[in-house]
Amino acid sequence: MVQATNLGFPRIGAQRETKKIVEAFWAGKATEQAIDEAAIKLRAENWALQKAQGLSQIPSGDFSFYDHVLDHSVMFNVIPQRFRHLADGHKRNFAIGRGIQKPATETQPKVDLEAQEMKKWFDTNYHYIVPEFENNQSFHLGQKIKTLDEFNEAKALGIHTRPVVLGPLTFLLLGKTAKNSHGLDLISLLPKVLPVYEELFAKLAHAGADWIQVDEPILALDLAPQVVARFQETYARLTAAAPSLKFLIATYFGRIGDNVSFIKNSGVAGLHVDLVRNPEQLESVLANLSSTQVLSLGLVDGRNIWKTNLANALKIAEVAVKAIGTERVFVAPSCSLLHAPVTLRFEKRLASKNAELFDWLAYSEEKCKELHILAQALNNGVESVQAELADNARSIEARRTSAHTTNSAVRERLEAIVPDQLRRRSVFPERQQTQHKALPLPEFPTTTIGSFPQTKEIRLARAKFTKGEIDAAAYHEFIKKEIAYCVEEQEKLKLDVLVHGEAERNDMVAYFGERLEGYIFSENGWIASYGSRCVRPPIIFGDVHRVNPMTITETVYAQSLTSKPMKGMLTGPVTCLQWSFVRDDIPRSVVCTQLALAIRDEVVDLEKAGIVHIQVDEPAIREGLPLRSVDFDLQWAVDAFLLSTTGVKDETVIHTHMCYSDFQDIFQAIRRMDADVLTIENSKSDMRILGAFSTHGYNAEIGPGVFDIHSPRVPSIQEMKERADAMLQYIPRRNLWINPDCGLKTRGWKEVRESLTNLVAVAEALRATS
Ligand code: GLN
Ligand code: ZN
Repeated sequence: MVQATNLGFPRIGAQRETKKIVEAFWAGKATEQAIDEAAIKLRAENWALQKAQGLSQIPSGDFSFYDHVLDHSVMFNVIPQRFRHLADGHKRNFAIGRGIQKPATETQPKVDLEAQEMKKWFDTNYHYIVPEFENNQSFHLGQKIKTLDEFNEAKALGIHTRPVVLGPLTFLLLGKTAKNSHGLDLISLLPKVLPVYEELFAKLAHAGADWIQVDEPILALDLAPQVVARFQETYARLTAAAPSLKFLIATYFGRIGDNVSFIKNSGVAGLHVDLVRNPEQLESVLANLSSTQVLSLGLVDGRNIWKTNLANALKIAEVAVKAIGTERVFVAPSCSLLHAPVTLRFEKRLASKNAELFDWLAYSEEKCKELHILAQALNNGVESVQAELADNARSIEARRTSAHTTNSAVRERLEAIVPDQLRRRSVFPERQQTQHKALPLPEFPTTTIGSFPQTKEIRLARAKFTKGEIDAAAYHEFIKKEIAYCVEEQEKLKLDVLVHGEAERNDMVAYFGERLEGYIFSENGWIASYGSRCVRPPIIFGDVHRVNPMTITETVYAQSLTSKPMKGMLTGPVTCLQWSFVRDDIPRSVVCTQLALAIRDEVVDLEKAGIVHIQVDEPAIREGLPLRSVDFDLQWAVDAFLLSTTGVKDETVIHTHMCYSDFQDIFQAIRRMDADVLTIENSKSDMRILGAFSTHGYNAEIGPGVFDIHSPRVPSIQEMKERADAMLQYIPRRNLWINPDCGLKTRGWKEVRESLTNLVAVAEALRATS
């Protein structure tokens, strides 16, 4: 029998229950017990729901309050030195994720613990907490063994689950070495960590687990042959030590490629591969399995919201069934459904007001159902699910032939793009001279990345406006006041290039999506981004174009309040694309070019309105890249950025901003983007990256963040000055900007004021030196 399985269910809750309770806990309004109870309830609901949809292998251990990689580190006692004095529990986990800072009191000294580093999870917009390993790293299971506890919790409810565990090689290789342990070879920790995995697996086996899912997503990356060899040894050892368990190695987000070679003789019972991203890998993977190994087919897109074309999925599955038989085939989502919204049940507005589009969608709950239908069709013949398949085929056809997805004017404009539309008028060194002459700034100009705190008042006003409780005039009046406040504060802080603060934007992508044609918004399509933060990616369903200016009113108003330059703030085409749910009926590059033309029009309008500094954020520039370097192609992404930004005069300073990216392999692309100022997330990263920028001939202005905005911690002048001094080893004085890592929207005003006061002091101190 083909089994319908899942790799992971969203943990945020159908109505973001997890976020709400966790944030209440942080605010001191919920107890540990309350958050535990909420989690128990949610897990029970999720298991029941997956069972009701007809899945036969349901994951457990996929829940997390903050991040599953962090939970895994804690479960294995990988806790950085600075947090070890804290008692085991939620508080400590949250401290590792968020840092802690408390001023000294009469009885207590001040506390200042930096959060552990956070990184993007492969090419997603989910962020994980990077495990931090030390030279003398010891691993052991603690009192609480999360994976085991959750397996038992499900078992007590009568649900037999498939525990999900982060595999040892991914765990180690996605980690980093602690500050005191430079030179530590992460893979050398393998002999130390494996006994703990053995212990965990023995406990799971003892508790009654049969299949266990071991996630090894690094198998979709380029790996050295020595590393692949370690996979072989590792799994041979782990499977031998737990003979009653069936190991399913899960890979996703890309093709396993030659790394598959270890599978056959590794002792594992099965392999999961992503066939949504890489359907072409099916044949080669099949050829590399032993005669008993199971193949789990990732057929339902875990990263998007569109209904699966079940007829197509069946065709692929049938190839597998024909080759290895139903007993050896699982159907599954391409990856954990962590990256998809929870359920369509709460999409009431779309369901009633946009039934056409609603009919094209499937969230996690519905995807589970699709998996069940696929399994039924494979096991009992297509007749057994004829009605479901016919209904699916009708939806797919309706979407394909819809009149609402194409706009001929947009298509014609795309056709007419010429190379000159991808070039600034002069090269950067000439522009820099022109810009410095036209609008001189002090040395080490200070600026921020755009957003200022999104306070409760702002969110409340927006909610009231959305619900129609206040009218547009009242809302815009409110926003104007917020902008004025933000400008005034920046003047007081003596920043050099100001921003309007983005109070009117709920989200940097959604804001533009709401103003562009071709987009639609869900009510409840939330997915996890980091910690308790969820995002609700807009949906691009049709051809994108701009009808009216989108940011001119607020930016021009903000500029009217100050004699300092006001930076216009836009989201770039690649980021709009990456952070949306994108239609899958035309190439992504085409959607991106449509977005670029819309942003280009806005950039030109800002310039016309007298705005000299314009920032086009591309934090997601790297995200669209396939995981394998041979497949890297940023050509169309960079072209889209150029198309957006090059419609201006030399005097206009184009900024771009990127965060949470590895830049290592994309210097050429960043250089080709030809921005005048680049601000990047850097406060926690290695300074060597800056050296690499210059080695790669990057000669434009650059503002590597001097403090981390993801933590409420206020950085001292000294620590930021040290960072800036270190930067000066790589970046010439005239090119260095001083700014935070990213936007400040998630922070409070008090810490923002304190942090920026210190930041400006750093710039002043730097100017005083020669
Ligand atoms: N301008 C945006 C902000 O400040 C940039 C956010 C981002 O890079 N993620 O919020
Ligand atoms: Zn950023």
